[in-house]
Amino acid sequence: MGDALQDLYQELILDHNKRPRNRRKLDHPDRLAEGFNPLCGDRVTVYIKLDGDVIQDLAFEGKGCAISTASASLMTEALKGKTVADAMTLFDRFHNLVTCGPEHNGGGPELGKLEVFSGVSQYPARVKCASLVWHAVHAALENKQEVVSTE
Ligand code: ZN
Repeated sequence: MGDALQDLYQELILDHNKRPRNRRKLDHPDRLAEGFNPLCGDRVTVYIKLDGDVIQDLAFEGKGCAISTASASLMTEALKGKTVADAMTLFDRFHNLVTCGPEHNGGGPELGKLEVFSGVSQYPARVKCASLVWHAVHAALENKQEVVSTE
């Protein structure tokens, strides 16, 4: 990943952490799920209003690190107006993105490139921070009542 792209990603995360979109409670949601990431302490509650098969509105409340908050904010923007089926597909894609990504960053023979592992070693924690809200949405759309935990 180039520095410019990484900077852009970082800016996006910082912006959504600072000013999260759709962070509020929805009254009388059709679906609701809670998520907890014990590794980091992130907590999130997702509220969904359905219009037939379409996600008419969704919002979240939560407390957590910048990545979990930004991920929740970006998730609400991504899923609003989507069908439940599209949301499930996006869940799979996002999950693949955050879990399969590191496998493409295999270390080369150069010792210098091993430095990349300093970041990758923190990756499992970041995966859970980023995916927590998606697991909650998934559970909500499947109408599961229990609290989703990343552990
Ligand atoms: Zn976190």
